[in-house]
Amino acid sequence: MELGSATIQEIRAGIASGKTTATAVAEQHYARIAAEDGPSGKGINSFLALSRERAMAQAAKIDALAAKGEPLPPLAGVPVGIKDVLAMKGSPATAGSKILQGYKPPYDATAVTRLESAGAVLLGKLNCDEFAMGSSNENSAYGPVRNPRALDRVPGGSSGGSAAAVAAGFAVASLGSDTGGSIRQPAAFCGVVGVLPTYGRVSRFGLIAFASSLDRVGPFATNVRDAATMLSVIAGQDAKDATSSDRPVGDYVGALAKPVKGLRIGVPAEYFGEGLDAEIRAAIERALDGLRAAGCVVKTIALPHTRYAIPTYYVIATAEASANLSRFDGVRFGLRAAENAGSQTLSAMYRETRDQGFGAEVKRRILLGTYALSAGYYDAYYRKAQQVRTLLTRDFLAAFAQVDAIVAPITPTPPWKLGEKTADPLQMYLEDIYSVAASLAGICGMCVPCGETKAGLPIGVQIMGPHFNEETMFRVALSIETAQR
Ligand code: GLN
Repeated sequence: MELGSATIQEIRAGIASGKTTATAVAEQHYARIAAEDGPSGKGINSFLALSRERAMAQAAKIDALAAKGEPLPPLAGVPVGIKDVLAMKGSPATAGSKILQGYKPPYDATAVTRLESAGAVLLGKLNCDEFAMGSSNENSAYGPVRNPRALDRVPGGSSGGSAAAVAAGFAVASLGSDTGGSIRQPAAFCGVVGVLPTYGRVSRFGLIAFASSLDRVGPFATNVRDAATMLSVIAGQDAKDATSSDRPVGDYVGALAKPVKGLRIGVPAEYFGEGLDAEIRAAIERALDGLRAAGCVVKTIALPHTRYAIPTYYVIATAEASANLSRFDGVRFGLRAAENAGSQTLSAMYRETRDQGFGAEVKRRILLGTYALSAGYYDAYYRKAQQVRTLLTRDFLAAFAQVDAIVAPITPTPPWKLGEKTADPLQMYLEDIYSVAASLAGICGMCVPCGETKAGLPIGVQIMGPHFNEETMFRVALSIETAQR
């Protein structure tokens, strides 16, 4: 079985037929991780922790089922990596932060439980920007991740490790989280598929919170069908997350059989303005030509409030982050500042722990968010941002009255060099220009590869769908993917 190209179906079928075993597949992936992920290999740095014992026990279970000739679950023996913001019982969960050093959650996130119940082999925890705040994975306290497609470049963020591990063939699929682009953007940068499910589609139980009204859990895979398979496993209501929806889960894989002929595709003019890289623009035009050739009706639409999306996102996300991150105080989880002359009192201990434990970007956001929520500024910033969020959502609702899906860029530029943008946080925030509106509106979105630049860097295209209509989005993505082959 070829590492890096075997699909979920191929692995499952290979195990069922006795051509390979789940144990062998897991060993192969661990061997590649050992050879390439660390500094003596390619230094990709995607894994922060391996859960070998748990993985091998699960692989043995799958092999026992196969040996008895029993039917195998949908993800049988599929090696999967988990972003380090999701809880895996007994494994470290750092969220890319020093403040959680040493913390091991005593439970599994619901998405993790569901993957394992569906037969997946959980390899370990994947690097990410600290508390999922960032667009390059350079905000991780455990070092940046390198882009497997260009080792001197960033893999995107915040789920950089999740995208890189799949792109490097360390895992067949992975889980990430997306608050303002953190699945779709790294998928584009690493040349893989990444899915932002509708808000409420996948349980957030066991996800370390960044901005609760925006946070979503979703999959990465090398191809659209695998991504659809992953989502159908993790989606669905969960009694442990009151915001998870009771709507029945769609048949995402079955939907792929339906042709896209006749689908109406909206192209938002606002997403093709100044600042969009010429090669990305050309690649998306080609993808749209392919959709036309497949019988889609492509038309220009307006999302008039798009230019307010970045400021709105950075007020709401930081405000919610300042509230969520108050729980890290040296008492309950992870790091506690060593007692010294300055930390005689409880509040000094809190202060020192937070000072030592949080990185610069996280501190910046806590300050911004606390400011936006403070008396006197709440109306000017937070309430205003909530109002604009409604306008952004209405833009999409109006658009989806006319079209079935929206196709747009996900990043204005190809992946940049490591270190290139770290000095200017605002520059980094502006990279999120095409991703944050869908996050604020709660709609579904995904990214699928659609070519590469002359220099060989991956280009991705974003497909957005109405709330709880992942099926249509997947169909459009498959059509774009097929046209690439
Ligand atoms: N880049 C965005 C940010 O830094 C999005 C991050 C995310 O989706 N978690 O906030």
